[in-house]
Amino acid sequence: MTQEELNKIIEKDSYLKERENPSSHDVALYLGEVNHHCPLCGKALIYREQKKKNRLFQIAHIYPNRPTIAQYETLKDVERLGGNSESFENKIAICLDCHSTQDYHTTVEDYNHLLDIKKRLLTESALNNAIRSLDVERDVSIVISRLTNISEMELADLNYEPVYLTNKFENSELLIKTRIESYVHIYFPYVRDCLKEIDGKNGFNQQVLAGQIRNCYLKMRDRSSNKSMIFYQMADWLKNKTQSTSREACEIVIAFFVQNCEVFDEITK
Ligand SMILES: [Zn+2]
Repeated sequence: MTQEELNKIIEKDSYLKERENPSSHDVALYLGEVNHHCPLCGKALIYREQKKKNRLFQIAHIYPNRPTIAQYETLKDVERLGGNSESFENKIAICLDCHSTQDYHTTVEDYNHLLDIKKRLLTESALNNAIRSLDVERDVSIVISRLTNISEMELADLNYEPVYLTNKFENSELLIKTRIESYVHIYFPYVRDCLKEIDGKNGFNQQVLAGQIRNCYLKMRDRSSNKSMIFYQMADWLKNKTQSTSREACEIVIAFFVQNCEVFDEITK
């Protein structure tokens, strides 16, 4: 095969895309995926002692985005991961030494070895996410079941005045908006079903709670325009009242009411 022939093949092969530099967010994902250690030799990919993080790694293509003639012929029949060479599935963080070996001496065995590692990492992270979301759901259901124990008098506590501790939540409106949106997106049906189940039990009235949260918000808003602070204080209140160990679960429940009551309408729209 000549270089010219290969160039034509590369042009027609829709899997092979121009190299894209990973964003710093992507780099963090790749490093997290391998637990900051080279998945081939085990070397640490970052010197933690030094102030400046030393780059001891590269984000490598598993299937090369621009194969040489030798690579193209060697890797003729191998499996490729992801939609194209720039997909998350086709890249992995490895150390500089392993990267140069991988690049210059690609064998089918080496390729399949790295491919298998990446497949295992992808399965593990999918499993972790599923397990994590089950844990969060369990915590949410505990928080909601304990809502029935909060008396109306205690609900009135929600009308407390906001505390001006710091301004650290300033300029975080977008952040809180994104957070509420993603909670609502992921957990809305689950929270709604849990609430439906306890409505009317033990005198619990969802409308009363929703109304109380709305009043609380309105009163706090008169004193502070910082919606993030209000949101976190409401989540704190719920965490205290339900003795929940999961702050995230409490934020999810508050996000539901906040969204459902349209009290945060300006920021959730
Ligand atoms: Zn290595």
